[in-house]
Amino acid sequence: MIRTLLKTYRPRPWWERVPPLELLVAVILSQRTNWRNARRALERLKERFGAVDRLAEASVEEIEDAIRPAGLYRSRASVLREVACAFGGSRIEDLLSLPYEEAKRRLMSVRGIGPKTADVFLMLARGEPVLPVDTHIRRVLVRLGFASGREGYEELRASLESEVPPEDRLRAHLALVAFGREVCRPVSPRCDICPFSAWCPSSIKPKRKTR
Ligand code: SF4
Repeated sequence: MIRTLLKTYRPRPWWERVPPLELLVAVILSQRTNWRNARRALERLKERFGAVDRLAEASVEEIEDAIRPAGLYRSRASVLREVACAFGGSRIEDLLSLPYEEAKRRLMSVRGIGPKTADVFLMLARGEPVLPVDTHIRRVLVRLGFASGREGYEELRASLESEVPPEDRLRAHLALVAFGREVCRPVSPRCDICPFSAWCPSSIKPKRKTR
């Protein structure tokens, strides 16, 4: 299944030239938000404050106003401010030089950053060979019968990683997310164009026309 998706979805590596703190802010803004709105919010932040490090000196209300297009702006504004305080300047580079478990633990010490956000950031920022499981990937795995839906985040991540070689995990994550957004959508999945519909236990078969 992953091999099929890897052939279909070939993401452009937009994150490679983004400074690490800005990348972390982008990852936080893109959680449960489409990428276009997250990007708009990030651009507005940069227009208003210059560098994202400056969020440490901004008020939560100012940040809220700038990131409004991304939604969930009330809770996110305080997380972003905390992120800028904790990892501004060279501290983000220090964080990136730490071993995986320690870097993840430090990221998660900021209220509002969970294991998935920490994993996505480490995967994009330094190619950490993890395969973060977001809400789209979880839904796809459950519908295809590879997960029950009761697994915790770390259990599901480890299980998926055991099936995907380290060098393919980043692309597999992005391909699974794209597939979940475009085909195996939360509502009205496109089973009619899905390459797995022949064996997927959740496939919705087209209704027969009645005379
Ligand atoms: S057949 Fe339908 S439910 Fe199953 S993976 Fe494809 S889109 Fe999702």
